[in-house]
Amino acid sequence: MSNKQQHIHKFKRVIIGGTSIEKDPETGRKRLVSKPGTPYYRCIIPGCNSRYLIDDMEGRESICWGCGGIVAFSTSMRTLAKPRHFQCRKKRKEEEIEMESFSI
Ligand SMILES: [Zn+2]
Ligand SMILES: [Zn+2]
Repeated sequence: MSNKQQHIHKFKRVIIGGTSIEKDPETGRKRLVSKPGTPYYRCIIPGCNSRYLIDDMEGRESICWGCGGIVAFSTSMRTLAKPRHFQCRKKRKEEEIEMESFSI
């Protein structure tokens, strides 16, 4: 059975890459530096290995981490680790605050 079900990806940003050896401009010594790496958006749905560079994400559909609906990736989401609608970003903050007050 190679009947893979189509789905809307649920993207999450992951950083691939990491450390490199660089010369410290002040001391002249070599040191291990944590590099930002290359950010990708990767689908977290089990069995799906889809992964795209941020530059290749524009217009792609993702499941919104806020409401579970479909959201088209836009430039303004580049800063988000988990794509969400604009309205859902606010909502999430409120939820987080609510949850904090409940956990005491
Ligand atoms: Zn997927
Ligand atoms: Zn949403």
